[in-house]
Amino acid sequence: MISHHDCEKHMMLDHHPESPARLQSIANALRAQDWAAELQQLSASEIDAELFAGVHPRHYLDMLAELDPGEGFARIDADTSLNQYSLRAARLAAGAAIQATEAVLGGVADTAFCAVRPPGHHAESAIGMGFCIFNNVALAAERALSLGAERVAILDFDVHHGNGTVEIFLERPEVMVCSSFQYPFYPGRMDQVNAAHIVLTPLAAGSSGDQFRQAVERDWLPALLRHQPDLILVSAGFDAHRQDPLGGLLLEDADFAWVSQLIVDAARRLCQGRIVSTLEGGYHLDALARCVSIHLRELLAQ
Ligand SMILES: [Zn+2]
Repeated sequence: MISHHDCEKHMMLDHHPESPARLQSIANALRAQDWAAELQQLSASEIDAELFAGVHPRHYLDMLAELDPGEGFARIDADTSLNQYSLRAARLAAGAAIQATEAVLGGVADTAFCAVRPPGHHAESAIGMGFCIFNNVALAAERALSLGAERVAILDFDVHHGNGTVEIFLERPEVMVCSSFQYPFYPGRMDQVNAAHIVLTPLAAGSSGDQFRQAVERDWLPALLRHQPDLILVSAGFDAHRQDPLGGLLLEDADFAWVSQLIVDAARRLCQGRIVSTLEGGYHLDALARCVSIHLRELLAQ
């Protein structure tokens, strides 16, 4: 598990739900688990600037550097803003995903989880949005390819569609993106694309855990078998939980155990169990902490 305390210094305007308390709640929950002693906990390093290549263009990085507010806040979009610590937190979150990928592909770890913020899956190549600045999972995928992986799969079970990840890899069939999401819902982008390596699983508001499970089995498993990835990356969002204040799906704790187990089974079958998972959404602090614990336990049991 890779994290960094400075990810807790990033704060946004207006009592924002994507708050430092999310990581604190996860850390507290893990302290109460006896199996957490088996976790190797590492501190993230900032991403090396050259590893943005292929995901975020120079002009986007320059635009963010110009926005960097010093004091106060600078808005990126209606619900995403920067304080003086945000860009460091974003570089650490991206760096954690890179570090996790290097560890898993290098055989240092079988699986890795990045407990970081800001999240990443809404960030398109040149557009920060939806609480996201850099697309952490996309940077991890790009790093995996540069380290010799021929094909990777990104599995995104956040309640919101991973529009940024789809936009970044739309013309890159070596990166399969499977995304389940409430539909219609935020962000309303990149959810109508037609490409064999982009697997969209829209779910109506009010969908149950059983409906989620059926749809994921139907859509993701055959796609994974077809793609034969060398590494599975996970955009692990926990806002499809029925207690989540932002999402409108009705998943329970057991559904997050189920999808985590499905990912572990697929990774065992296809890529020697190699999984890199990174935190996306999840805004009910208790449900988030419980479900991250469940997810980590499944990755550890791997
Ligand atoms: Zn979300």
